[in-house]
Amino acid sequence: MEPGLGEARLDDEVVMQLMWAMPGGGGAGALPIVQAHGGESGHGSHQLSAVWTCPRQWWLRYRRLMLLVKENGWRMSGTLIHLALSYRYAAMMEQVPAWVHEKSLDEELEHDAEGLGDAGKARETIATVRDVMREYTWKYEGEPWVPVAVEEQISMRLGDMREARAGEDKSLDDVVVTCRPDLVVRCPDGLLRLVDHKTTSDAHWRDKDMLPDWPEDGGSYRVPWQMMLYLWIARHHMGQAEISGFVINRIKRTKGWKSGRYDMDRHELRIPVTFYEKVPEIVRATVAREREVERAVERGEKPIGLPWACHGPFGPCDYVDWCTAPTNRHRGALLGQPVLKDDDEELPEQKYKIVKRAA
Ligand code: SF4
Repeated sequence: MEPGLGEARLDDEVVMQLMWAMPGGGGAGALPIVQAHGGESGHGSHQLSAVWTCPRQWWLRYRRLMLLVKENGWRMSGTLIHLALSYRYAAMMEQVPAWVHEKSLDEELEHDAEGLGDAGKARETIATVRDVMREYTWKYEGEPWVPVAVEEQISMRLGDMREARAGEDKSLDDVVVTCRPDLVVRCPDGLLRLVDHKTTSDAHWRDKDMLPDWPEDGGSYRVPWQMMLYLWIARHHMGQAEISGFVINRIKRTKGWKSGRYDMDRHELRIPVTFYEKVPEIVRATVAREREVERAVERGEKPIGLPWACHGPFGPCDYVDWCTAPTNRHRGALLGQPVLKDDDEELPEQKYKIVKRAA
């Protein structure tokens, strides 16, 4: 049963009762918006997990701000579908956010798709996004969700999650952790849920025609780190009695025989209490790890690269070419810098650019 459609499963009730007993609640109130709709997210959930995945990846992406010149195609499709969904739900809000009127969806799509670096691919991707949205609108006609926030960034001081204990680094208390849930909705049961749009499924299924069945135990969402952090922060601001949980809104392109060309469904996550209770510890340990890497770089050391992280379930790490480049000349070429090369030496095309941090 899809959440928000009026029929709660017994399992969900048990999970929800457990949630009432969880820490992290504060008084109910409005979402304090730090920054809405796009932009840098500071210590967000992706950044936090990256330092454990591979310190070099974390440093290149979040400290050196080295990005791909041409964005990966399937990641761009996902980004654009998220963008279109944000406009859909923002337009349904009681108070439509100002950004909806500042730039039209078409303008935003065209601007972002330029990141593909190929006008033909950009047009094709935008056409696909329009198709997805037509079908999404058709499938969820009579939408049970009432949107109350779209891509609004909320934040929390580490010290408000849990103050430093004796012997711990007190300066970490002032580090701010942020999150930007795709959507916050009020469901027919009167409670709020955070929603995450997922436009890809596990890599194993990426080439198949339809979404995999949602596994009974939640599968790869059994321990959903990002969602646990979001819930922690949202409940701090809005009260845990208001926010009953997290929903994954899946969208997948299909091929072949199915009547529709897209598969879509929604599932409520079960949040494991044992991990949820540890969110403040996990975040504090992670920020401490980031500080260690920064200190090592200040001492002139290179952040260590972890080879087992170079190929993940969604393909190679963005920095494989950088990390496997045989010489500094190759690295210079990858960054588009003028390099002196030996005769007959073949150098790669520019693949990366360094961006400036937003003021
Ligand atoms: S290619 Fe491998 S070592 Fe290099 S940043 Fe990525 S995960 Fe780390």
